[in-house]
Amino acid sequence: MKSDTPIPGPLARRSNIFLIWWRIWFEHAAILMMDILPRTFDILFSLFLLVFLSPLLLLRAIVAKVSTGKVFEAELLVGRFRTPFLRLRFSGKTPGARLACLSNILAGDMAFAGPRPMREDEISNLTPEQSIRFTLRPGLYSLYSLRRKIGIAYDSETVSDTDFYYSETVKGDVGLVARSLIGDMLAGGDMRPTPPILNFFGVEIVNTTMDEAVDWMVKKVRDNAASFVAFVNPDCLNIAYTQEKYRQVLSSADRVLPDGIGINIGCRMLNVSLLANINGTDLFPRLCERAATEGLSLFLFGAKPGIAQAVANNMRERLPALQFAGVRDGYFTADETDRIIEEINHSNADILLVAFGAPKQELWLAENHAKLKPCVRLGVGGLFDFYSGQMPRAPLWMREIGLEWTWRLLHEPGRLWRRYLIGNPLFLFRVWKQKRMNAYP
Ligand code: UDP
Repeated sequence: MKSDTPIPGPLARRSNIFLIWWRIWFEHAAILMMDILPRTFDILFSLFLLVFLSPLLLLRAIVAKVSTGKVFEAELLVGRFRTPFLRLRFSGKTPGARLACLSNILAGDMAFAGPRPMREDEISNLTPEQSIRFTLRPGLYSLYSLRRKIGIAYDSETVSDTDFYYSETVKGDVGLVARSLIGDMLAGGDMRPTPPILNFFGVEIVNTTMDEAVDWMVKKVRDNAASFVAFVNPDCLNIAYTQEKYRQVLSSADRVLPDGIGINIGCRMLNVSLLANINGTDLFPRLCERAATEGLSLFLFGAKPGIAQAVANNMRERLPALQFAGVRDGYFTADETDRIIEEINHSNADILLVAFGAPKQELWLAENHAKLKPCVRLGVGGLFDFYSGQMPRAPLWMREIGLEWTWRLLHEPGRLWRRYLIGNPLFLFRVWKQKRMNAYP
């Protein structure tokens, strides 16, 4: 069939070529412009550090040469636009090996902030979506490495890379470097073993990932196996240290999960590594997503009147398929307990979230374990207040440096000052004592 589209004449063809040429030029210029400021920062800052730290670098080079016979070690990595490059590090185990990377940054193979550099064998299976990382220079510090160190890298590396790609600015780069340095101080250091169970003051905590924690709960519902899960932060462990009853309740739980940066720091003190910070607040939306896809229903029990209902409304807006079997506030008298348990059981909920704060919620769950019907029961602390919109959660950058507790302290100083200002150092002191008494593991 003859096409009605007229064949373009020489003039139109030339203007088409001009348009294509202009588009290519424009796109390249746009990429370069986006890159100009971060690159200028990288050049100036790496030059400054190379000059400023030159005596230290020289000393580190001499130490490397004397101890290992060579100054540098080089690793072949994949850089921007998949171009291979050699990343330098000073030879040997003395601290400061990474300082040699400054020359990679000055040369333009790397940046201060960017996606984690990968080896050739790691990139063979990357999807086009994951390849977004190759439009940027690999970084000495990456958002994913920082989140993993702090224990909040719950999503894939691509999510962190994409977050970084869409938000990169010089200010953001400086922030990421600063947060990474803090992260190194809190939870960095050498590779440490990751035992499946962590032990603080006799409380056994499961060392796992967020995905596994959610899978475990869904499986318990599928297997119809009644399970009680508790989350512990340093404050809970301080209470367990002195309260025999709570300690017993925690040891009767099917799983105790680690909540908060304090546990991460404690792990570092005990020379082990925490896989992830599995706190109820980060677990909740992931559990809701799975519950929505698997058709499981939730009962929210706790917080002030109206709060649990607001959480249900908010989550249903995000996940229309999510079923809430019931909600109830957490203020009641002892005589009402049986009626409330009946209400919960009658709702046929699969998962029960109890939010009275620790240790009250755990004691209540343990006491009523045999009477309750929902398969999985969790004690989740103040999380309803966050998801109801009543209480703002700490911004991500604060969570990335383990400062969520500071945010909470600033919002409720009267209630929380003792928990954090006395409790946190006390917890670390007790961990130090545990280590000294060789009570670990
Ligand atoms: N709460 C409750 N019933 C009570 C006491 C407290 O429902 O008898 C609720 C309170 O409204 C708040 C939560 O329990 O929503 C306690 O939050 P907190 O911040 O103490 O918990 P955390 O997450 O720190 O364990």
